[in-house]
Amino acid sequence: MSNCIFCEIVRGQAPSWKVYENEWVYAFLDINPVSRYHTLVIPKRHYVNIFDVPDEELREVISVVGKLAKYYKAELKLEGLQVINNNGRPGQQDVFHIHYHLIPRSIGDGQNIRWKTFSRWRADFDQMLKQIDIVD
Ligand code: AMP
Ligand code: ZN
Repeated sequence: MSNCIFCEIVRGQAPSWKVYENEWVYAFLDINPVSRYHTLVIPKRHYVNIFDVPDEELREVISVVGKLAKYYKAELKLEGLQVINNNGRPGQQDVFHIHYHLIPRSIGDGQNIRWKTFSRWRADFDQMLKQIDIVD
């Protein structure tokens, strides 16, 4: 994609701080880090998000997410790590080239993501499951 900042990074037309790359995947530091080593993992080919990325390329991306997580834990002595993937505007996606955030966390680091929960929705669970029928 010509006007995609992450495609420009993959092509070397925009600067990045590369962490790792292979044939399919590129990983680099987030320009607005929320922790040290906040990393983005992307497919080299342009896909908007989880809804259009082919399974095979998603597998390659997730495989690198796992590889970097284990590497960071071993080498940087991480206490915790959050893996976040935002999809679509309501899903708080800002850059429309699919990416996985790796966010190292430690106790007392001052960060916090907390969801509001609505226990009354439990009453809908049976009805919700009737609406879906997922087959392989
Ligand atoms: P999201 O809100 O999940 O779409 O996250 C997009 C992320 O991309 C944000 O954390 C940005 O800081 C990051 N980002 C945007 N432009 C760049 C860039 N040129 N290099 C590195 N990270 C970027
Ligand atoms: Zn792109």
